[in-house]
Amino acid sequence: MNTTNDTEIKSEVIPEQLGNTSQFRFQCHKGVKCFTKCCRGIDIMLTPYDILTMKKRLDISSDEFLALYTDIRLLEKADMPVVTLKLLDDDQKSCPFVRDEEGCIIYEDRPSTCRYYPLGMGALSYAGQINDNDAFFFMVKESHCLGFQEEKTWSVADWREDQGVNVRDEVNAGWTDLIVKKKTIPASIKLTEKSKQLFFMVCYNIDKFKRFVFESSFLEKFSLDDDRIEAIRNDDVELLKFGFEWLKSLFFEEGNINITGDELRN
Ligand code: SF4
Ligand code: SF4
Repeated sequence: MNTTNDTEIKSEVIPEQLGNTSQFRFQCHKGVKCFTKCCRGIDIMLTPYDILTMKKRLDISSDEFLALYTDIRLLEKADMPVVTLKLLDDDQKSCPFVRDEEGCIIYEDRPSTCRYYPLGMGALSYAGQINDNDAFFFMVKESHCLGFQEEKTWSVADWREDQGVNVRDEVNAGWTDLIVKKKTIPASIKLTEKSKQLFFMVCYNIDKFKRFVFESSFLEKFSLDDDRIEAIRNDDVELLKFGFEWLKSLFFEEGNINITGDELRN
């Protein structure tokens, strides 16, 4: 996991782009002396799908989750809001979900960043020119992490499969795409405050987006068939994907969503 607090965790990003076939040596288990050290003093960006699954796991609303467990910041270069996990105000700046003996109490629903570690995702961190097909990864080595001394060797693809990030990346693809697209256009072209608010609502506050879609005349602006409407009504993942498509159409005038009015662009 990346870190912002150098006094507590020394973290080194290895300056080498990794692809799916790249190999690395690593294993993490309860027997390592450093168990749970990586869950303190960290900086974890939450993806839309992370927030969906974590709030469901905790059985709370999007508003409650955002208020209790997150901080909000603007992603440099993209100038778009992102959400990070709020750490406890204890000596070690612990993740609210870590316990000394047990480890992660939401392990099955832990965020993508925790699953990826010791890999980082290039698309969201890289500040240069990126094309849609340029998915790449990099290695993050934290000084306390003994997982690199274990014998097990992985390919990046096997690690992603083992950690269950493939399915999450597929759901989050529309969100990543929006950020990458915004990063690659000149910085002088800004999103309006209203556009940033819409982006925030769709990506991070699914309950609010649901009310926005179904408790207003919103759907009258689209030519969506009944099956799609039922899908987005009954499945928050489908609603999220629809939201990404809508934002792509709204911000970049791309995609398959046919907006019949343009008042939401302004
Ligand atoms: S081996 Fe690394 S990832 Fe595993 S608990 Fe230790 S510090 Fe965390
Ligand atoms: S969510 Fe779980 S795995 Fe991730 S930092 Fe917190 S305790 Fe550790």
